[in-house]
Amino acid sequence: MDFRLSERQEEIRATARRIAETVVAPRAAAIDRDGVYPEDLFEAFRDAGLLRLAFPEEYGGTGDGMMGLVLAVEEVAKYCSSAGLLLLTTRLATSGLLIAGTPEQKDHYVRGVAEGRLRGCFALTEPETGSDSAAITTTATRDGDEYVIEGAKLWAGQATAADFAMVVAKTDPAAGSRGVSAFLVDLPNPGFRIVRQLPKMGVLGVPVVEIHLDQLRVPASALLGEENRGFKLVMRHLNVVRPLVAARGVGLAAGAVEYALAYAEQRHTFGQPIVEHQAVGFPLANLAIEIEAARLLTYRAAWLVDQGGSDRDIAHFLSMAKAMASEVAIRAADRALQTLGGIGYLKDYPTERYYRDARQLTLVEGTSEIHRLIILRAMRDGLLSWGYDVEAAGGLPSGRPTTVPDGLVMA
Ligand SMILES: Cc1cc2nc3c(=O)[nH]c(=O)nc-3n(C[C@H](O)[C@H](O)[C@H](O)COP(=O)(O)OP(=O)(O)OC[C@H]3O[C@@H](n4cnc5c(N)ncnc54)[C@H](O)[C@@H]3O)c2cc1C
Repeated sequence: MDFRLSERQEEIRATARRIAETVVAPRAAAIDRDGVYPEDLFEAFRDAGLLRLAFPEEYGGTGDGMMGLVLAVEEVAKYCSSAGLLLLTTRLATSGLLIAGTPEQKDHYVRGVAEGRLRGCFALTEPETGSDSAAITTTATRDGDEYVIEGAKLWAGQATAADFAMVVAKTDPAAGSRGVSAFLVDLPNPGFRIVRQLPKMGVLGVPVVEIHLDQLRVPASALLGEENRGFKLVMRHLNVVRPLVAARGVGLAAGAVEYALAYAEQRHTFGQPIVEHQAVGFPLANLAIEIEAARLLTYRAAWLVDQGGSDRDIAHFLSMAKAMASEVAIRAADRALQTLGGIGYLKDYPTERYYRDARQLTLVEGTSEIHRLIILRAMRDGLLSWGYDVEAAGGLPSGRPTTVPDGLVMA
């Protein structure tokens, strides 16, 4: 076992860190204040080659896999969660394409995203359903050489800047999860109407929207994968993206804690730096432990995706990384704000922004509750086990004693 990064991975980290420190960090507060999509960051990422990281070379990528992109997302998310999300959308828009796209679809969309010519968004969630994604009510009906899509979508981060959307709809509404299909919709399209930008709490550089799909017509060639087989595809698509959400959490947590530590070294109360008060210092040390644990889970998750293991075998490890890192980010942001005392609450300093941005992480790409369902299911199915033999430990209690031991005096 070797926990070190390769030379190439160190190089990716160094490049991403340079961009994070020189381009992202100076813009982070203004992106949050103005709530405007940071086109300049997108260009900087493209010019530094960061958009290409998680794509195969045959489609314009660098072939550095999920691990390469995880390293980059972690670095930029230390300073700006919107920037981390922006980088993540390269795969949020295309993971399904890499799994099930035709060579033509991949050559157009994946290459376009890798080269920074195209941007995509992912539209699954609806006003009436999120976690229970098989319950979506958007429909796609075949009409000659086209499909007509009708319904509504909520969220779809980056839709306002997108050149295409992966839209999930029911092609056989009576068949539940066996009637779901995915489509690649080129934008703009008059049937894809953004009706409202949602007023959210954080990550304000990447808008989320409400979309009405009114008689949205797409050619039959827009179908991604097979008709009615889209549910599994969407689940696999989401699985693959989880290490990237985890990397946003790890980055945010690390940024928040390092900021708080620097402040705690400098701020004095009762004649000493506040870091010397154990009530201030120890929580930061606790968070260091949690960040490293989340980071290891995240790197392993990325590695598992890059190994191409079956979903059934790895989904729970991806869920662990995502759940852990997003929850650590919330705890770290909370503690960082507390460490700064009153000024941590001011918009003049990043802790208030970290606090709002972190809160998003346990909601997106599967809530923490849904990840626990995935983990528990794997435990109960024997996919996740640490090799404990209950029989070797004497078996389980039967529930009621069968014999009264000799000498036991009943009161
Ligand atoms: C900022 C932001 C960006 C987003 N971006 C996108 C995007 O780009 N594309 C997209 O398609 N979606 C996006 N989403 C939507 C996101 O994926 C959903 O919000 C998420 O899946 C949860 O769905 P929901 O909000 O409908 O909550 P619900 O599914 O209604 O859940 C409500 C609560 O109940 C809990 N719950 C539900 N079912 C169970 C259960 N079986 N057991 C235990 N607890 C349960 C949930 O964990 C949650 O706490 C985004 C959301 C946010 C906040």
